[in-house]
Amino acid sequence: MFGRKRKVRRRLFETPLPDAWWVIIDRNVPYIRSLTDEDRKELGGHIQILLHEKRFEGCGGLEMTDEIRLTIAAQAAVLLLHRKTDYYPTLRSILVYPHAYFSAAERRLPDGTVTDQPEARLGESWFRGSLVLSWDDVLRGAHNPSDGHNVVFHEFAHQLDGESGAMNGAPDLESPTRYQHWAQVLGHDYNKLIEEVHKNHRSLIDPYGSTDPAEFFAVVTETFFEKPKAMLHRHPELYRQLAEFYNQDPAHAETDSETP
Ligand SMILES: [Zn+2]
Repeated sequence: MFGRKRKVRRRLFETPLPDAWWVIIDRNVPYIRSLTDEDRKELGGHIQILLHEKRFEGCGGLEMTDEIRLTIAAQAAVLLLHRKTDYYPTLRSILVYPHAYFSAAERRLPDGTVTDQPEARLGESWFRGSLVLSWDDVLRGAHNPSDGHNVVFHEFAHQLDGESGAMNGAPDLESPTRYQHWAQVLGHDYNKLIEEVHKNHRSLIDPYGSTDPAEFFAVVTETFFEKPKAMLHRHPELYRQLAEFYNQDPAHAETDSETP
């Protein structure tokens, strides 16, 4: 990283968020209220950098506001806590639509191409450059911190996944041994989920995670932050892999009780 960029980041990181911004964040993202003061301070620094480096763009008639920017950046910053990070380096723009923007018909991708792939989620993360979210669903996901669904965690987990060079369910893990453990544990639980979905069994992990390994990683990230105690109990190995990657232990944090 160039020295100037590092300097700018350090200055931003040390600039406290205005109180009025914390009011918005705490109102919209109850998960963040449960963090320690130290974590909130770190989070505030990450938020400043994300707001500075990423372009937030209102689409489909949505007017961009501080509330929208903060609600998204604050949740994206949760995934960066306690970790060495380059702030989603390939992500430049966050496009926000007022409502779920997708349809089963054709839709235009940010690069101008048109796809008729049916869209099953409320946001979408592209490997290069931009990420699409619906404001409705961002708010809904944030308001309920324990239902296991959070579209911002989901889409930014895809971004982390892509940092290893490919979106394949394995983010940058630094050592070959860690990749081996990761592949073993996530592969096992991914196959188990496919089986559960096949048998129509109820699973803790959203069945959407059985789509492919990349979706599995994004979906279990949602479960890890929103249903950590249940995940620790029912998928202890998976919980440990994610706790090591995210360097966080939400199952032992003082949070509101999880909805079963
Ligand atoms: Zn996804």
